[in-house]
Amino acid sequence: MNLGLKDKVVIVTGGAKGIGEAISRLAAEEGAIIVIAGRNEADNEKTVTAINNAGGKALGVTAELGKPGDCKKVIDVAVAAYGRIDALVNNAGANDGVGLESGSPEKFMASLQNNLSHYYNLAHYALPYLKAAKGNIVNIGSKVADTGQGNTSGYAASKGAINALTREWAVELVPFSVRVNTVIPAEVWTPLYETWINSLPNSEEKLASIVSKIPLEKRMTTSDEIAGMTVFLLSDRSAHTTGQIIYVDGGYTHLDRSIS
Ligand code: NAP
Repeated sequence: MNLGLKDKVVIVTGGAKGIGEAISRLAAEEGAIIVIAGRNEADNEKTVTAINNAGGKALGVTAELGKPGDCKKVIDVAVAAYGRIDALVNNAGANDGVGLESGSPEKFMASLQNNLSHYYNLAHYALPYLKAAKGNIVNIGSKVADTGQGNTSGYAASKGAINALTREWAVELVPFSVRVNTVIPAEVWTPLYETWINSLPNSEEKLASIVSKIPLEKRMTTSDEIAGMTVFLLSDRSAHTTGQIIYVDGGYTHLDRSIS
């Protein structure tokens, strides 16, 4: 299947590691030009070099996305380099453990800044270009928005808001044929996941317990499987799909708990 992504300019936030890296690599394999936005220049350059060495095209922009000015810089750099933006993948985020009891008003707002505000800021600054291209936005959310997790109010609030914004932006952008969708992972082995699981007491038992409850094949979802759905949504092969929140989680969020 030709996804028609050749020479489309796609911004991927957090596109150097984990799920974002898999999205960057797969979209580049399909011919898209990737702009990786992330806070660590060395991480960005490593993935950019890997993509370029594999015959793709990529560019890194060092950006602390919690800062609105850095979000604007990402858009400005992409437009200066390529003159267009066809798609935005809002992916960067971290389950930062700002709990109701353990957190504070300041930490809660900082978590929203790091997990939510840049989804809006980048969409806002990219909008004229997305309209011109009849492009699209794919957000990466989390099942935490549906299930809760405990001790992570800022992250849960951000991911819940991202689901709401998916519908809100899809409606606002219908007149411009700009599509907006969200992909929801649940349990995907990435640097972020490894840090999180290792922060728990009895992390090995906890991991085994989580995996045993994933209905499809009792295994974690791979980053490539999240990337597959994301790249499909970026492509014209999903040209009549908008406002959708799609769970790529082996049935973890919704299927009957009694499945053995
Ligand atoms: P990851 O391995 O930590 O990769 C995320 C990348 O984004 C890292 O390079 C990180 O930089 C960067 N980043 C994060 N926040 C940033 C910010 N404010 N400014 C600039 N760069 C930032 O994470 P992941 O597991 O792939 O997660 C990607 C997305 O999937 C997140 O939105 C997460 O909520 C969602 N998700 C993941 C899972 C899972 O099981 N892994 C489950 C549900 C949802 P640093 O490494 O320097 O922090």
